[in-house]
Parts: sequence; C-alpha cells; structure tokens
Amino acid sequence: MAKRVAPHVRTFDVAIIGAGVVGAAIARELAHFELSILLIDAKSDVGAGTSKANTAILHTGFDMVPGSLESRLVSRGYALLRDYAREVGISFESCGALLVAWNDEELANLSKIQEKAIANGYHETYLVGVDALYAKEPHLGSGALGALAVPGEWIIDPWSTTLAYATQAKSAGAILQLNTRVERISQSAHLHTLHTNQGEFEARYLVNAAGLYSDVIDAEFGFEDFVVTPRRGELMVFDKLARSLVSHILLPVPSSMGKGVLVSPTVFGNVMLGPTAENLSDKRATESSIAGLAFLQEKGRKIMPALLDEEITAIYAGLRAATEHPDFQISLHAPQRYVTVGGIRSTGLTASMAIAEHVRDLLTTSGLDLGQQGDLPAIHIPALGESGVRPYLNDELIAATPSYGEIVCHCERVTRGEIDAAMISPIPPRDQAALGRRTRATLGRCQGFYCHAEVRALLENAGGAL
Ligand SMILES: Cc1cc2nc3c(=O)[nH]c(=O)nc-3n(C[C@H](O)[C@H](O)[C@H](O)COP(=O)(O)OP(=O)(O)OC[C@H]3O[C@@H](n4cnc5c(N)ncnc54)[C@H](O)[C@@H]3O)c2cc1C
Repeated sequence: MAKRVAPHVRTFDVAIIGAGVVGAAIARELAHFELSILLIDAKSDVGAGTSKANTAILHTGFDMVPGSLESRLVSRGYALLRDYAREVGISFESCGALLVAWNDEELANLSKIQEKAIANGYHETYLVGVDALYAKEPHLGSGALGALAVPGEWIIDPWSTTLAYATQAKSAGAILQLNTRVERISQSAHLHTLHTNQGEFEARYLVNAAGLYSDVIDAEFGFEDFVVTPRRGELMVFDKLARSLVSHILLPVPSSMGKGVLVSPTVFGNVMLGPTAENLSDKRATESSIAGLAFLQEKGRKIMPALLDEEITAIYAGLRAATEHPDFQISLHAPQRYVTVGGIRSTGLTASMAIAEHVRDLLTTSGLDLGQQGDLPAIHIPALGESGVRPYLNDELIAATPSYGEIVCHCERVTRGEIDAAMISPIPPRDQAALGRRTRATLGRCQGFYCHAEVRALLENAGGAL
C-alpha cells in the first residue's frame, strides 16, 4: 500500500497532475505499492473537469480502430471497471445498445461494423431485423431499417467512478491536493519541482493527466507531440417520466467526428440526448449553444419523436480532449522520468483502469521501483442508481439511522442521512455541485428550486461553501 506521509511532506515518489477519472485511476493503481503519491488538481473537487460531463457509457470498444492503443485499453478497461463497479457499489445497468441504420448505406455498413467488432475482440454483436427492432424499441422514430445489437454496451454512474478511485487512493495513503494549479515545472537531476498557487511540491516521477491541458504541461518539458483541440459535446437530459420510452442505448452509425448523437437511459432514471461534436479553440467553452441544442432537437425528433414532448431537466456540455492523432497519446519520456497521458477523448471513463495499469508499467520501465504490492482498503460508494435500493426505501437503514428517512431533495429523493454521510466522507464536497455528484441533491426536475436553501444550510453547517 502507498506510503503514508505526514501532511507537511512535500516530496513524493510520484506526482499526478489532474484528478479526473484518468488521474484518479492512476493514483489508485499506484496506491497498491510502496510509493508516496501526490494527486493534484486545480479544481475544488475530483472529477470536476471533462470527467463530470460525459455520456456515461461503459463502452465495449466494438467500434475502435483495431490494433490501436485505445482499442486495447478500452477493451481491458471495460472488464476492469465492470468488475470494480460491482466490488465498490458504483451503479450500472446492463441495458445494451442498438446501432440503428436509417438508410440503405448505413444498413449495409452494419455487417462491416460487426466485422470490426470482432477485430476489436468483441464477439457478441448480432443483426436485428426491422420488426424485431421496433418490438425492442416501440417508440423509435419511423424509417429505421434495422440495427446491430451490442449487448455489452452498458450505462454507469460516471461521478461515483472518479470518486471511488480517489477515495480508495486517499484511504491507502495518497495525498489529494485540490485547489492547486500547477503553474510551472522545473527539473533538477533527480526531482521535478511543481510550482503551484499553493507553494512547491517535488516528485521523482511525474504523470501528466491534465486532460484538456495535457499539451500545456507537455510544453513545460519542451514536448510538442500533440495539440489538444477541445471538442464540445452538448447534451440534453430529459425528465424521469421519459425513462419508459427507451430500453437500450440507441446509437447512430459512427462517423469520423465520433460516435454521433445517441439517445440513452441514465442510471439515475433520466433519458439523455446527445452529444454534439464541435471543434473549438477555447478550453473553457463548456456553455451550451442555441445551435447545438437545435441540432440535438432535430436529431432527437428523428430518433424518438415522443422524447421531444417530454420535459427537459438539464442541459450541459463537456469538452473532449481531441488531438490531431487518431489514438490516445500516452508516452513515456524515460530520461525525464515523465509520462504523458493525453488525447483521452471519448472513451476515458471506460478505459481509465486500463490506462492506469499501462502508466504503472511505463513508470516501471523507466526505473521506478514499485516495492511490494498490497491490498487497497475496501470501500463502498453510496449507490445513486435507480435500479438499486435507494436509502429512502431502505427500512433497515432508516431504523438504524432515522435521518435516512428525512427527504431533503424531493425530486431525487435524497435524504439528510446521505448528505450528512457525504459531508464526513474521505473527500467531502465543498460546493453544491460536488454534493450533487455525490448524492444527486438539487439535480432533479426542479434543479434545486425547492431544496436549495436547506441543502445550502447543511453544506454551510458542515463547513462547505457555495
Ligand atoms: C460529451 C462527452 C461524452 C463522453 N462520453 C463518454 C462515454 O460515454 N464513455 C466514456 O468512457 N468516455 C466518455 N467521454 C470521455 C471521458 O469523459 C474522458 O475521456 C475523460 O473524462 C477524460 O478524463 P481525464 O481525467 O483525462 O480528464 P479531466 O476529467 O478533464 O481531468 C483533467 C484534470 O486535470 C486538471 N488540470 C489541468 N491542468 C492542470 C494544472 N495545470 N494544474 C492542476 N490541475 C490541472 C483539471 O482541473 C482536470 O480536473 C466523453 C467525453 C465527452 C466530453
């Protein structure tokens, strides 16, 4: 297990810049070993960058470029994360996907995609005729000609995934340093010095998991292997009353810009429509746009017209860290004792645990002595998915701790017990958005209109800010 270091110690075996799903997974993987680990992020929470705003699909990798690093890591990451979700209680649903063909060309393409899936090591796809397709998805728009079923495509809770990795790494002894922006990096013979807004930290080995800013961190070393172009994906989240309309993830036939616009259930009981794919230059452009939402409505009307009659609960946008290369950009710079983890675009949630293993191996190649491997402390993440038994329904839990019977957020049925537990957890939320990612409080159909004051009071009493 990771070496426990006193809070004032500022020299580490390995520092990881970026506590998104990728950096947190790397910290967790390295925490199995006798290393002192620093996980550092500019934001006030883990998973508050791209990792908080994705489509939350556990991808099989059926449509990857065969032989690519991404194909290998998505496939391996899928199996690892599926098992990990079961182990620690992250919500997921094995709903499967249907890749729907809307014209003859797409229909002809389905068998090619099936061959590609096999080349990617995924053998479970099967073709679905038009009648069977409408029997599976009666609310699908008219005009579909058939589909390819991909039963292994599942939906997962993306927020709890990052939180689980970081919590387990921290419980094992890794130091989590939030609100800490790396502004400059300097090197001596054996150490990297990270100059941050919270002072200096030193590390023998450095991992760059800075997502959209991985090229900026690379530039500190003089590397120009890739440029990150933020690719914005806008999404709409429909009310839970829409959930009965759709059973599978409904995928389009993919294009070079990505996986295209899908309709998908979420583990929280909503239905999602999106994402768009728009290359931008601004790494902070996470606002939604009129054009993007109009585009989604047009696509959604074709895929599932009845969905468009439902209420929209929320809209959001995430930025994929796309580069000029078609594959992940993970490279070891051995002389510098430095690993870059860049270009983790559309599949980083799924691939995260496999990326972490890969980075561990690269660090070992460059001379890092991992020491003995140990077990990580067991953790259990509160299940937020609608397919499990939520605390407000759990008589035994309520009998033991009555605050689990006191609902604070009525739209999402979040109890005071859950909020209290989040506030004293190893990585407590510091603002309302972070509390929402841990409990779903304020994320329902009224978006906090009803419960905001009470949630705010609970946060403030427990030392959080807004
Ligand atoms: C619209 C959309 C849909 C997606 N759908 C899916 C999906 O269905 N399934 C799937 O598997 N993947 C999906 N993805 C991809 C997935 O979300 C990403 O690959 C993943 O979140 C990338 O994680 P990361 O840790 O690399 O980046 P991030 O989450 O962005 O983390 C990087 C962190 O680095 C920090 N940082 C940057 N610079 C500094 C600095 N100088 N100092 C300190 N900290 C710094 C940032 O604050 C940030 O928290 C999707 C992505 C998008 C945008």
